[in-house]
Amino acid sequence: MAQYIDIHNNWESARFHCPACGAVIFDERGEPTPNPCKHLLFSWIDEVGDFYNPADEVKQILEEDDILPFDDETLEKFPETTVIFRLVSFGMACGPVSITVIHAINFLDEEDTDSSYFCNPPGA
Ligand SMILES: [Zn+2]
Repeated sequence: MAQYIDIHNNWESARFHCPACGAVIFDERGEPTPNPCKHLLFSWIDEVGDFYNPADEVKQILEEDDILPFDDETLEKFPETTVIFRLVSFGMACGPVSITVIHAINFLDEEDTDSSYFCNPPGA
């Protein structure tokens, strides 16, 4: 089952970089990158309800009706190595508002499954 992390994000910046490789996922205007890295499974914005940059391996899951990217049933379907980053930003518009953005990152792929990497990290 995928893991799930809640983050209180700075209202001023929608920028998000891949925690695995540092590639841009959302720029400072909250625009999804046109060139997602291999770790990104998808991004999601609650106000819009749409998925951005869905990876091939999860496209079928995300096409199901009424899917919410953070309920237990959905999390079961993602690879074990997935971490869901849920960024919540609070601010003031005509009143207090919040925006929730989710980025699903898969920390391992076939190339990275060599466990010796974790026992012998570079520079150790
Ligand atoms: Zn990446």
